[in-house]
Amino acid sequence: MAEPLRLKAKSASPGIASGPAFLAEETKAPSAAERPDAATAPGTVGGFGALEKAIDISINELEHLAEGADAESRDIIDFQIEVLRDPTIAEATGARMEEDQNVVFAWVATLDAYIGELEAADEEQMRARAVDILDIKNRVLGALAGTPIADFPPGSVFIGKDMEPSRFLAHDWSKGGGIALFAGSTAGHVALLARAKSVPMVVGTGRFSAADGDPVSVDGDAGAVTLKAGGMLIPPLAPAQAPTGDMQTGSSELRTADGVQIFISININDPAEIDALDAATAGVGLMRSEFSVTSIADAANEERQLAIYRRALEQAGEKPVIIRMLDIGGDKPLAGLEDLPALSPGLRGVRLLLARPEIARVQARALLRAAVFGRLSVMLPMVTFPNEIDRMRELFREEAEKLGRRALLHRMPPIGMMVEVPAAALMLDKFGSAAFFSFGTNDLTQYLAASARDDIDADAGKAAPAVLRLIAQAVKLAAGKPTSICGDMAGNPSYLSGLLAAGLRHFSVAPARRPAIRSAIIGLNADGTRAAGE
Ligand code: PEP
Ligand code: MG
Repeated sequence: MAEPLRLKAKSASPGIASGPAFLAEETKAPSAAERPDAATAPGTVGGFGALEKAIDISINELEHLAEGADAESRDIIDFQIEVLRDPTIAEATGARMEEDQNVVFAWVATLDAYIGELEAADEEQMRARAVDILDIKNRVLGALAGTPIADFPPGSVFIGKDMEPSRFLAHDWSKGGGIALFAGSTAGHVALLARAKSVPMVVGTGRFSAADGDPVSVDGDAGAVTLKAGGMLIPPLAPAQAPTGDMQTGSSELRTADGVQIFISININDPAEIDALDAATAGVGLMRSEFSVTSIADAANEERQLAIYRRALEQAGEKPVIIRMLDIGGDKPLAGLEDLPALSPGLRGVRLLLARPEIARVQARALLRAAVFGRLSVMLPMVTFPNEIDRMRELFREEAEKLGRRALLHRMPPIGMMVEVPAAALMLDKFGSAAFFSFGTNDLTQYLAASARDDIDADAGKAAPAVLRLIAQAVKLAAGKPTSICGDMAGNPSYLSGLLAAGLRHFSVAPARRPAIRSAIIGLNADGTRAAGE
């Protein structure tokens, strides 16, 4: 019998998982027939053909719905089908596309204009039709978003070159399973998601062959993968690990050994992770909204985003929730985004949102409307210059005015910023219009040390003293404005002493990192020195 093969790898998320292998296909461009925009030239997602196809899909869905519907519902559905078949709607969208708009946003703008006209109508019956149009706007957006990437069997070990964050988020990890990547990065986005959900993961195994269903173990503690072909189950290296959530509830007060109060919040990537909020957690210090948006069509869908934010805020109740605007571009691609004109590789985060305001306006409206359901603050990603805050605030004001004209409930949330670009950290005293600051050490480290975030050999530890010095300087420049840290450094107890010494008192970490951080804090003084007897 062949000996199990044990491959050395790099640990990206601790824990041990065993299960049948799932071999991911190499990411390849879908064939023309698979793409929602089959009628367009290869390489474009945003063609008019995509819209025609999405409209056809929507009409089919509606016809199907009409089959079992009562007479009244059928009337509404027939009206919606009639609108979708109306060539003037498609023509108006086409005209907007000629003015350089992506198909998704051209569709949204056309339908929003129609909805606006109906909402302003004198007759009540006409006004009531607005919601029917909103419904088809979103139905077509759903169809434009296309079919999600195929899931893999729960409990299996995902093996591949890399993994898309949306694939991670769509998968049910409650049945166990793990991830082994030939390449990948411990600082990559999927690694970050895996740590937050306690999914064992290793990266950098190098290429190896295995068959679908072969038993595999991923050891995220030691950094290894063990596999054996031939249908034999490999005995787990240790008892299967249940997700290690934070079991600590009770007192919401956490103090350093010398009595200074410290706040712990959580970072969430998937809105469902808000379940981890407990009495001892101050709130949500970072919700990465980009992980709830898997295509440009989602980015154009105000109602969908509103529903996600509303749910998070309602569940958080009295606790504050910081939702970060879409941090897309650069190493965070978004399907369909590559087709937007004027997209340069350096355009990401708030810069991209300001360069493509149609994306920012949809999200701003969703956030303004969600703000009435809880204690929302909005955070801007990758801010580099103070005027980026001012321009975004102005955009929020304009959208608030539009919502007001449509009599839609909304509230202006405080707008703060990530401090993750060294140029901003060095000049923090110039960002007077930001309501708060949160240090993003993942990007701060990569941009400060010129080490690619996806470089698996990058040693963040070596850059830590420089990052800590920069943070300490920046905290002073913040001059008492609310300041926290939400980068991965906050969840690593070995940096805690340096972060406390830098003056930080609010740490936002992945839910699973809370116990380690809490116990480290009670052994330290507020200046970062070890407490007597520790
Ligand atoms: C960071 O850069 O530290 C951060 C929190 O943002 P993200 O990891 O999403 O880039
Ligand atoms: Mg970042």
